[in-house]
Amino acid sequence: MVSWILLLKELTSDVGKTSEFTVEVCNHIFFMCTYLFVYLWVYFFLQWCDERFDFQATFLQCLAKHVPNIYSAEMDPLVEKQEEMVQAAILYPLECYLFGEDPDVFLEKLQQSRTSQLCGKVFKGGETTYSCRDCAVDPTCVLCIDCFQNSIHKNHRYKMHSSTGGGFCDCGDTEAWKAGPLCTKHEAGASGSPKENSGCQLNEEIMEHSRRVFPSVIKYIVDMLIWEEEKELPVELTISREKADNYYCVLFNDEHHSYDHVIYSLQRALGCELGEAQLHTTAIDKEGRRAVKAGHYAACQEAKEEIKRHSENVSQRPLHVEVLHADVMAHQKFALRLGSWLNKLMSYSSDFRQIFCQICLKEETGSEKPCFISKLMLWDARLHKGARKVLHELIFSSFFMEMEYKKLFAVEFVKYYKALQKEYINDDHERVLSVTALSVQMFTVPTLARHLIEEQNVITTITETLLEVLPEYLDKNDKFNFQGYSQDKLNRVYSVIYDLRYVLVSKPAVWTDRLRERFLEGFVSFLRILTCMQGMEEIKRQIGQHIEVDPDWEAAIAIQMQLKNILLMFQEWCACDEELLLRSYRECHKAVMRCSSNGRSREKTVFHLCGHTLESRPYRVSADPVSIHLPLSRTLAGLHVRLSKTGAISRLHEFVSPEEFQVELLVEYPLRCLVLVAQVAAEMWRRNGLSLISQVFYYQDVKCREEMYDKDIIMLQIGASLMDPNQFLLLILQRYELADAFKKIKPTKDQDLIKQYNVLIEEMLQILIYVVGERYVPGISNVTKEDVIMREIIHLLCIEPMAHSAITKSLPENENNETGLENVIDKVATFKKPGVSGHGVYELKDECLKEFNMFFYHYTKTQHSKAEHTQKKRRKQENRDEALPPPPPPDFSPAFSNVVRILNCDVMMHILRTLLQRAVELETHLWTEAMIQMVLHLLSLGLLEEKQQLQKSPEEEVTFDFYHKATRMGSSALNAVNVLMLLEKLKRVPQLEAQKDTVNWILQMFDMVKRLREKSSLATVGAASGSEATKGDESTQDKEKAERKRKAEAARLHRQKIMAQMSALQRNFIETHKLLYENTLESQGKDDAIMEEEIISSAIDYSRIALGPKRGPSVIEKEVLTCILCQEEQEVKLESAAMVLSACVQKSTALTQNRSRILELSGDTLDPLFMHPDLPCGTHTGSCGHVMHAACWQKYFEAMQLNFRQRLHVEQIFDLENGEYLCPLCKSLCNTVIPIVPLQAQKINSEDAEAVAQILSLARWLEIVTARISGYSMKNAKGEKPNLPPFTNKGTGNSALEFHSILSFGVQSSAKYSSSIKEMLILFATTIYRVGLKVAPNEADSRIPMMTWSTCAFTIQCIENLLETEGKPLFGSLQNRQHSGLKALVQFAAAQRTTAPQVLIQKHLIRLLGVLLPNFKGEDTPSLLEVDMFHILVGAVLSFPSLYWEDAVDLQPSSVSSAYNHLYLFHLTTLAHIMQIVISSATESPAAHSSDNSEEAQSAQSFCREVCHQDIPGWLVWDCVKKGIMPYLRCAALFFHYLMGVSPPEELLQVSEEGQFKALCSYLSLPTNLFLLFHEYQDTVNPLLQRWCTDPVVLSCLKGKSIAIRYPRKRNHLIELPEDYSCLLNQASQFRCPRSSDDEQKHPVLCLFCGAMLCSQNTCCQELVNGEELGACTSHALQCGAGVCMFLKIRECKVVLIEGKTRGCFYPAPYLDEYGETDPGLKRGNPLHLCQERYRKLHLLWQQHCIIEEIARRQETNQIFFGFNWQLL
Ligand SMILES: [Zn+2]
Ligand SMILES: [Zn+2]
Ligand SMILES: [Zn+2]
Ligand SMILES: [Zn+2]
Ligand SMILES: [Zn+2]
Ligand SMILES: [Zn+2]
Ligand SMILES: [Zn+2]
Repeated sequence: MVSWILLLKELTSDVGKTSEFTVEVCNHIFFMCTYLFVYLWVYFFLQWCDERFDFQATFLQCLAKHVPNIYSAEMDPLVEKQEEMVQAAILYPLECYLFGEDPDVFLEKLQQSRTSQLCGKVFKGGETTYSCRDCAVDPTCVLCIDCFQNSIHKNHRYKMHSSTGGGFCDCGDTEAWKAGPLCTKHEAGASGSPKENSGCQLNEEIMEHSRRVFPSVIKYIVDMLIWEEEKELPVELTISREKADNYYCVLFNDEHHSYDHVIYSLQRALGCELGEAQLHTTAIDKEGRRAVKAGHYAACQEAKEEIKRHSENVSQRPLHVEVLHADVMAHQKFALRLGSWLNKLMSYSSDFRQIFCQICLKEETGSEKPCFISKLMLWDARLHKGARKVLHELIFSSFFMEMEYKKLFAVEFVKYYKALQKEYINDDHERVLSVTALSVQMFTVPTLARHLIEEQNVITTITETLLEVLPEYLDKNDKFNFQGYSQDKLNRVYSVIYDLRYVLVSKPAVWTDRLRERFLEGFVSFLRILTCMQGMEEIKRQIGQHIEVDPDWEAAIAIQMQLKNILLMFQEWCACDEELLLRSYRECHKAVMRCSSNGRSREKTVFHLCGHTLESRPYRVSADPVSIHLPLSRTLAGLHVRLSKTGAISRLHEFVSPEEFQVELLVEYPLRCLVLVAQVAAEMWRRNGLSLISQVFYYQDVKCREEMYDKDIIMLQIGASLMDPNQFLLLILQRYELADAFKKIKPTKDQDLIKQYNVLIEEMLQILIYVVGERYVPGISNVTKEDVIMREIIHLLCIEPMAHSAITKSLPENENNETGLENVIDKVATFKKPGVSGHGVYELKDECLKEFNMFFYHYTKTQHSKAEHTQKKRRKQENRDEALPPPPPPDFSPAFSNVVRILNCDVMMHILRTLLQRAVELETHLWTEAMIQMVLHLLSLGLLEEKQQLQKSPEEEVTFDFYHKATRMGSSALNAVNVLMLLEKLKRVPQLEAQKDTVNWILQMFDMVKRLREKSSLATVGAASGSEATKGDESTQDKEKAERKRKAEAARLHRQKIMAQMSALQRNFIETHKLLYENTLESQGKDDAIMEEEIISSAIDYSRIALGPKRGPSVIEKEVLTCILCQEEQEVKLESAAMVLSACVQKSTALTQNRSRILELSGDTLDPLFMHPDLPCGTHTGSCGHVMHAACWQKYFEAMQLNFRQRLHVEQIFDLENGEYLCPLCKSLCNTVIPIVPLQAQKINSEDAEAVAQILSLARWLEIVTARISGYSMKNAKGEKPNLPPFTNKGTGNSALEFHSILSFGVQSSAKYSSSIKEMLILFATTIYRVGLKVAPNEADSRIPMMTWSTCAFTIQCIENLLETEGKPLFGSLQNRQHSGLKALVQFAAAQRTTAPQVLIQKHLIRLLGVLLPNFKGEDTPSLLEVDMFHILVGAVLSFPSLYWEDAVDLQPSSVSSAYNHLYLFHLTTLAHIMQIVISSATESPAAHSSDNSEEAQSAQSFCREVCHQDIPGWLVWDCVKKGIMPYLRCAALFFHYLMGVSPPEELLQVSEEGQFKALCSYLSLPTNLFLLFHEYQDTVNPLLQRWCTDPVVLSCLKGKSIAIRYPRKRNHLIELPEDYSCLLNQASQFRCPRSSDDEQKHPVLCLFCGAMLCSQNTCCQELVNGEELGACTSHALQCGAGVCMFLKIRECKVVLIEGKTRGCFYPAPYLDEYGETDPGLKRGNPLHLCQERYRKLHLLWQQHCIIEEIARRQETNQIFFGFNWQLL
């Protein structure tokens, strides 16, 4: 026995060295043996490893022996072989030992009883994750698609996102979800069986073995991963035999070098081929490292130096290269393999996980060394990408699946946090690949976060880490300065900030003393960071010279953005607990004071104004340094508001003594910042460049304002509430540097300076309005967060109605990325759904309009004026006055109630009076309208305040005496005035006409306040006077109203007059340009009507028949068209110069019945005469309906070609080589023109017709035609070889029929076309040929006429199909462009014959007739089932006149002759088509019984019996025929109508199933009982039927051996899409690239034509077509849509339209969120649902053949697409 084993071991140990052949043989033997000796192995291992053996030593011995051999071929590994060998030689025996039985059996058992309630699926980059906005504790809690689909959250407000990779599914984590933590799948696992009785528990023996095996395995993995020696192995792994000199030069991945750099360096250094270098590079990027050279040590060393040298040349730093011994490399590789082995094992049992974790966490007793897992964490940044992935997955599958061990892991993680973050910051890999990225998995778990704060002091740890990594940015004052920072490095610092955010994201509900202490400790530590930011990056106003370089400002602002929510969260945490709040306030206050000490050296100066004095230290924003970064002050403001809110403010003096408080100092810095903003607005800082403008922008922008601008306003409010109001205003005036401006008027002529002053005054007034009026902050007044959000939304919607996403973007997001919008939006706005394009919008509810405040502090200047304009306009429309006074603000909370005092203080009155006086005195340069508006607003605020106070409390208690102050004289001077008087005067200032309504409103308010004062003093008559007061109000209001009404009426009359003038002008314009905009259809309509009247009077009955002797007259109108280029009119005539329609010819698969059919890409050898009934690919001709002179068009086209050749990128919009251009009028993409050929009038003389009818039966007609054709063939045979199919004379008595007898029924001379029309006929025909067949143009090619007929037939079929799917009537509902395009196309197709040799046309005709008339059948004639009959009809009808060609005299059939020709050709094809239908439906089994026993059904039954010898129910056949023939009849009606111009019956102008069939039959001269045709022509047709049905193809079909196409053909639709977009994402997540097996992320793309899922933008699925690399989409499009195709990029939620290889565009996907918006790129992630109307629009885009047009249009308008390489899509 033992010898066998040894032999096996020897065999496996040698395989590495032997040749490939031996490897195979060995493996073969080996595997046979494995299966044979499974039990032997088990026995062996049990022996080997039990007590008597040392497992560790044996294990290592085994590895030492096998591993280097298995992984010996590093350069060119046979991965599958290696895997087989590893399994057999190491893993299988190992598992046998571990489990004590056959591993497969054992694991299967475990699998059965596997009951984890955690999902733990690890996301790959690009995978879709779902978060529930209703139930997730924070947005980092996500579900995988499987769990999501099975969870309750499916019906909640969820978000979809693309994972960046590295996270894992939180299903089952009860702490992550407020509700529904388990999906139904995992719920089963959770409830099924609690641990005690679960079958998954391992027995003691296995646990014992695990405890023995795992340590060795783990130790080996750790040792090998952190192994640093390049030449040596640990002793245990070294085998005695001498070490071979086998080395590898190994290249490592990093983030600094691009793909191209690496490829370049490899090619240079190793001299390898591009392909090999690419292979290496791809592998390096994927695995993280790769051996690029094998050889002796010296050689590898040399290669290493070379690579380093070359890579250093192309980029700043060298690539990371190492030389490793082959054995080291092998063991490291195997260590990873063992890692993934463990990973797999972990998923089976909780016991495995726990044992594994225990071992990983075990510290060597008495040693300071970190445990295994910490060792690996600390080594993480030094591992290569592949190793990190394995390690992180192992952590996920073990520690993170066991809550207890996750906690222990987190403790270890925090223990080494600083070291890990520092490693990461210096790492050269992205964050997903760093162990630090695991923080989110631990810190966001509420209990874990709390534990880590309490036990590990994690907040302090993180903040200290920040302080330790940021010092390099500290300047000499210990403030941050990010000049010349590295973006990459700073981004890495942000991740530490993020960790802080994670820890704080869930506020604790219960506070312990320990938690409080630790938190405060962390807060204080955090304040140290803020201290470094307070006042950082100071700037100084530049005077004289512009600054040279714009300083870097982005880093500081970016940190502010990152910190915004952290600051808010800290404040929220502090506010949880009164004690904590007060203590943290004290700490914060201290910190602010420490930072405010500088500048105290200056002497205080004194400033007087109207009897008040301010002593302050001099400081000028315009001259001294200033900073907009004041996080400490702002945090204090935030805490202060919370003190006020909780009421803790009453205890503030216990913590900060009033002497310490120093409110002036607190206000100082925020005030400076606001002054800076004002000065920037006044353009005083112009020379400081753009960076300052940007900073000011962000300071007020929604991303930062909560912790910048808003808090500065609050700080001013704190100041106003605590300082003496006059002092406060003096301080403001001084800081705004406006002290002088209100003292006296300086006679200055400097316009710039005056303007500057005016702007500063405006800015200051605005700030004063905000300080007094902005109270929507919880704590400042008694409002809730909802109130605040509602107010924001109201003010946004006062500007204009807005989309949901636009509102969201304008609202601040909280730490969970929520705005709170959804909770309140319905209270203030109504949703308006979108149409087929555009998006849904919210409109403000009317009742909310009263909340509008023109001076809302979050309005930008433009928003402010837009909103003012909108609101004034609205009031005007409602015939109301235009006053927009402030809405009554909510009351200040007690702590802030003193703020209002600044309204009625002396200094404020002085300011208001001064400004009003300036306006009244018309000192135009010293005031602006905006300023007066603000003054009026402040007055309104004052009056509102007093009114509110008076209404609430008795008069004597109201100390707020605004009325009194405002009516007091400004001075004792003689000419002194009060505010009230000034207002009266103001009404007469002409420049302030627009403010009149507001002034009136204020005057009324004065009145009201006065009366309130009086009323309450006369308390006894309170009620009466009250009503009187309102009455008085009303009377003045009435007067005003009447006046307004009169004005409004006058305005209305004026408007009416202007409107009348306008519409007259417009009518004129339309009249003169009518032809430009509309097609001629409308004007023709009139002519039609006239003609119709005539017809009705002359030929009553048979006017609406298109074929045969009873044919009605052609309705011909004189066509006068206007050239869109030269604007001249011209009548369309045969003999005059050609007029043309712009047109686009394209290949199309829109009608195909079989998308899997392979299309020929080049038509060089194609014979397009016969169309297959599948209609696989046709040539469509469309037109935009715009008419030009041929000459004008040619000039335009040439000029455009010349012009565009010089423009860049033009080739992507049009293909100039292929004659593409844009229609000069409508910019549609065109590639040719259709000549407009007038219809020739044809009227039948009824007497002639009757005469002919006597003689010309179908039989007779056939004889004549046959004679004619055989005559030609004999004639030709004389000269040359007969090229006609052998012709068999019928041999009857009529053989005497003469060659010329065809002429006897009437001929006429052919139409003579002008040379220019002829030229255009040729040009257009050649384009059809060139585009339709994708060949080089050749005017002489014999296939040109075939293509002409083919495009004519195909285009008609497309239009018929479109009308049917749109449910429109056959006639009268075509768009103008379709109508005129089709008319021109059919007439062209009839005329085109004359430009080709008639012999050629005859040849084609005979081949076509061969299908119908077996006499003419040639070798290549297809059977009845292999052709589309409508194509035959069109070809035959259009080519038939060639039979009249007589020795160079071009004759054509007379009206009567052609009427018969058409009739018989049509009847023949109809018969053949009925046969097609009958044959194809013969095999159909009846679905239901019907008792239809109509005449038609009976004929059908007898027909089947006679012809097919089959007994099929007659009603069934009739049903099939009637339904199946419809499209053919409809196409034929369209064709003959456009060919002959005979008006169709009325019924065809409406949609009616029943009437339509009868009308069609009558129009086309068919009996409604179609089977009567067979009866009528029995003698002639029966022999034809016989012949048709004996064709082998037909026979095989009749026998059911093959399947023929069914009629009616199916109408193509875009594939059905699921209603819910996440279904598509689900589908995409299961998508695997068909070509490659790796799990790399793909871009799945769905073809909307056929439903194929493709792997786009990836080299694996590129295809080589005609020597060009094409992406999966482009190459699919060539087949699926003949080059034009429509895809849905699933992960991006975008539709892609592509055409050919170079053109494409993106188009909004037909999925909308509940707010009627699309979400390209799934950026917002709202649930999306299919919008049927939009999908239908896409469908029409396709069926109308407008995709190319759409692409051209989008490319024109959107230049972005130029960079995109559509070819590789
Ligand atoms: Zn899951
Ligand atoms: Zn689940
Ligand atoms: Zn939910
Ligand atoms: Zn013209
Ligand atoms: Zn056009
Ligand atoms: Zn397709
Ligand atoms: Zn692929």
